[in-house]
Amino acid sequence: MELRQYGKTDAKVSVLGFGAMRFEHPDDFDESAATVLHAFEKGVNYFDTAPLYFEDKSEKIVGKAVLEMKKQNRPFYISTKSAGQTASDVRKDLEESLRRLNLDTIDFFHCWCVMTLDDWQNRLKGGVVQEILKAKEEGLIRYPAVSTHLPGSDIHHILKDGYFEGVTLGYSAVNFTYREAGIQAAAERNLGVVTMNPLGGGLIPQNEETFSFIKMDPEQSLVEAGLQFLKAQPEISTMIVGFRNKSDVDSAVQAIEDGTPFSSEHLKNMRQALKENFNELCTTCTYCKDCPENIEVWKFMEASNYFEMKGGDTPYDRLKWHWDKQLDELDRCTQCRLCEEVCTQHLPILDRFEQLKSKKPSK
Ligand code: SF4
Ligand code: SF4
Repeated sequence: MELRQYGKTDAKVSVLGFGAMRFEHPDDFDESAATVLHAFEKGVNYFDTAPLYFEDKSEKIVGKAVLEMKKQNRPFYISTKSAGQTASDVRKDLEESLRRLNLDTIDFFHCWCVMTLDDWQNRLKGGVVQEILKAKEEGLIRYPAVSTHLPGSDIHHILKDGYFEGVTLGYSAVNFTYREAGIQAAAERNLGVVTMNPLGGGLIPQNEETFSFIKMDPEQSLVEAGLQFLKAQPEISTMIVGFRNKSDVDSAVQAIEDGTPFSSEHLKNMRQALKENFNELCTTCTYCKDCPENIEVWKFMEASNYFEMKGGDTPYDRLKWHWDKQLDELDRCTQCRLCEEVCTQHLPILDRFEQLKSKKPSK
């Protein structure tokens, strides 16, 4: 497994990272920890978890694997996060994470999921960053980092003050034109870059025809192409893949180690092939799930993607057959715009709702 330097730190992380948010049976700690250890055996050494993944089970599973990994004479790195808005929130999260993870020091501790620049300012005012830096002085954290869904062009606002050693962000062949400025902002400062959501929330493998331009050769699977696309970018330290089981680990390791590498020429062609509106696709991250009217926004938005990709009746077929949804549900929308405020892709959700309603076939 290729190791890459994480920014200016002395950490050498595996180019393929373990995302501990997709375990097939998260209540089965033995099976799930075995999946983590299987990845470690295969050369993966970066493990990303969070306090809220499967409630607190993900950290406990990783903590169980940590006890085994500590017995082996190979480095491994644990990443976790706090979305706390105040210093005391962050301290509480950190102490609980240390306990669940069976660690004295967390390698990568993230200021989690900065959604907007206002959110960033609020956290600064709440003392979040100072608390993280203090914890580093105390030896409880090795490398402070930040995770964000901001557009690439805004990410430099967070990185410019030099608080963090690296950034974690959603990045894939679906949204790379939207996010690559963030990768560049980190690279210019020689910071670590961790990417999440490498297959665009399943959008890439589920749309073979639309995304076939990603492939280096026709025989390549879209999963392999999506991962090789990320591997081809030296600015990326590690790409996190959410694994359900050992078989998922084996497939990704094979795609990374034996897949056809991307050429710089192919990357250039890909950029040209991406339609302008490809960076306006919903990645079904479900960050819009807290609609006060209980509208499952992401299901409508995922169906709306099909306007961009296929047009015709496909959005309605998708709503009906895949999501079992009726357009009438959208009548409950009060247009409060909460979903738009938190949308990780900054999508015009209400406009898309109108599009869905107005273009409905008459049949
Ligand atoms: S704008 Fe509509 S869909 Fe979005 S959160 Fe508000 S009520 Fe829900
Ligand atoms: S609409 Fe935005 S926040 Fe909601 S799932 Fe799609 S990308 Fe995520």
